[in-house]
Amino acid sequence: MPFISLNPANNKTIATYTTWDASRLASALEHASGKQQAWAQTPFPQRAEYMHRAASLLHDRANEYAMLMAREMGKPVREGRAEVQKCALTCDYYAVHAEHFMQIEMVQTGAGKSYVSYEPMGVLLGVMPWNFPFFQVIRFAVPALMAGNACVLKHASNVPQCALALERLFHDAGFPSNIFTTLMIETADVAEVIASRHVHAVTLTGSERAGREIASRAGQELKKCVLELGGSDAFILLKDADLELASSYAVRSRFQNCGQSCIAAKRIIPVAEIAEEFGALLLQKVKDLKMGDPMNDGTQIGPMARLDLRENLHRQVTDSIAQGAKAVLGCEPVEGEGAFYPPSILDWVTADTRAYHEELFGPVAAVIRAKNEEDAIRIANDTPFGLGSSIWSRDAEHAEELARQIQAGCSFINGMVRSDPRLPFGGTKASGFGRELSYHGIREFVNIKTMWIR
Ligand code: NAP
Repeated sequence: MPFISLNPANNKTIATYTTWDASRLASALEHASGKQQAWAQTPFPQRAEYMHRAASLLHDRANEYAMLMAREMGKPVREGRAEVQKCALTCDYYAVHAEHFMQIEMVQTGAGKSYVSYEPMGVLLGVMPWNFPFFQVIRFAVPALMAGNACVLKHASNVPQCALALERLFHDAGFPSNIFTTLMIETADVAEVIASRHVHAVTLTGSERAGREIASRAGQELKKCVLELGGSDAFILLKDADLELASSYAVRSRFQNCGQSCIAAKRIIPVAEIAEEFGALLLQKVKDLKMGDPMNDGTQIGPMARLDLRENLHRQVTDSIAQGAKAVLGCEPVEGEGAFYPPSILDWVTADTRAYHEELFGPVAAVIRAKNEEDAIRIANDTPFGLGSSIWSRDAEHAEELARQIQAGCSFINGMVRSDPRLPFGGTKASGFGRELSYHGIREFVNIKTMWIR
């Protein structure tokens, strides 16, 4: 089946690409493996030079890449430019720090000399989603490349142009050929790639369903895997929260990228005392969001990335309403062409509804009212997921204590959950395992090697 690049704002096909046959795939994997060995010997300053160049190209091309994302998956250009700038920041960060992160560590034992070294694993397969089509790829590939690995990318099938642009980026930055390769393959081919003797590890950012499939394949082949999966982050408001500030961030966190972010504030949990006041602020701010053509600078909400995703979201919403949740705003697809869904609010979401238990991957805020702060923490943990969480309170110390009780990969106090190259990123429970970013991220795909010398 060919890849179709389709504009979700009008459902028109922009371009089609033929998928690779088995021999082209086999040859790409063999080349990646062949070139990786020389790449692993390339000194860090040389790797860093290419990586700084990639950062500089990202700055130069921020507008071009933002337009590409807008056309291919509906991200408003303003957000697209910010995504590309973050990619550049990540490239520069690892260009500066990778050598230090990979330095040997001397350990005193009975030996004359003993130490731990960090060696690249080989070729890493990244299976990536469309929602941050540039940053998700940069997030796995940049540390892996700086560690001396080669990367092969299987990107989401609805963003083939972004996938090819990333390959070109690394090529133009001067990286040797075959060190970063975009594989034009389908999901059915992923098992074969994982099984290939030329591939040594795999990382997936995507859904729980894909996570189970890839983890079991990697298990069968005894290959290392990292999984960055879905989330349903709690956004807790205590009675002493700055509601004006918190409601602004709730809107930003829930609705950025048309709500299609793994770390969006998917379950907004105010305690009873302030639920009404907060609800009124939320409603007013969500109403103010500007939906429209993602190519326009003023647009805050573009279309969802695909029509089938909109259908799926709407089914979750209508089921939740039938189960007792209250539609406060939106909750009906926009008529006409494109995959538009309006910014929506569901209030009175309870454990009887799908919105409570499932990830809503679109522009719908689910409000779950808690009796008190103890109840809020119970609700926060009453989910299969464990990616991020945030608590809002004027008593930051108290919020910090509560946050330690939340089962998640990160907790933010009076701030929205976001990734930062300096901090580890990843989840617990059904949100996956392993970490990206910071020195934890670069050490996921290395062989931690003990050296012992009499
Ligand atoms: P998805 O359907 O799982 O797709 C992600 C990638 O996996 C795509 O490249 C997809 O290819 C591939 N894939 C899907 N099923 C597969 C299978 N059985 N075997 C091998 N590969 C398979 O996820 P999505 O719906 O596009 O993305 C949204 C999900 O990703 C949400 O749950 C979101 O929370 C999660 N996410 C997590 C993070 C994080 O950092 N934790 C970040 C962003 C998104 P095709 O496109 O060809 O199907």
